[in-house]
Amino acid sequence: MTFCTAVNCIDGRVQLPVIEFLTDRFGVDYVDMITEPGVNRILAERTDPGGIDSILARIDISVTAHNSSAVAVVGHHDCKGNPVDESQQTIDTLAAVKYLREQCARYKDVRVIGLWVDGNGTVSEITTDQ
Ligand SMILES: [Zn+2]
Repeated sequence: MTFCTAVNCIDGRVQLPVIEFLTDRFGVDYVDMITEPGVNRILAERTDPGGIDSILARIDISVTAHNSSAVAVVGHHDCKGNPVDESQQTIDTLAAVKYLREQCARYKDVRVIGLWVDGNGTVSEITTDQ
């Protein structure tokens, strides 16, 4: 069994699209799901240390217990937890990716990418390769 990790919004509309995209993108069997409302903004702003620690602890379990090979941070259309337009969502997701790449540097070969899910549930990758 192989795994990757999604750091995703709680929004039910984006769960299956993200799982389907990531299983194909990384050729894995399963996607461990870490959810918070508007999680890309949480990781971009980092105003809540307890919330950040909780997310990092869950990523650590996914990487160490499941040998997750990649972490994806998700922003999406019509997000109630981060109610800003697509351009600001992209800025937040890229900042979250930068932060998680720094945090995940202690793991061997764990890639971090950013995703955007539009109003039709179409997923696109918004980061360049590490
Ligand atoms: Zn959301």
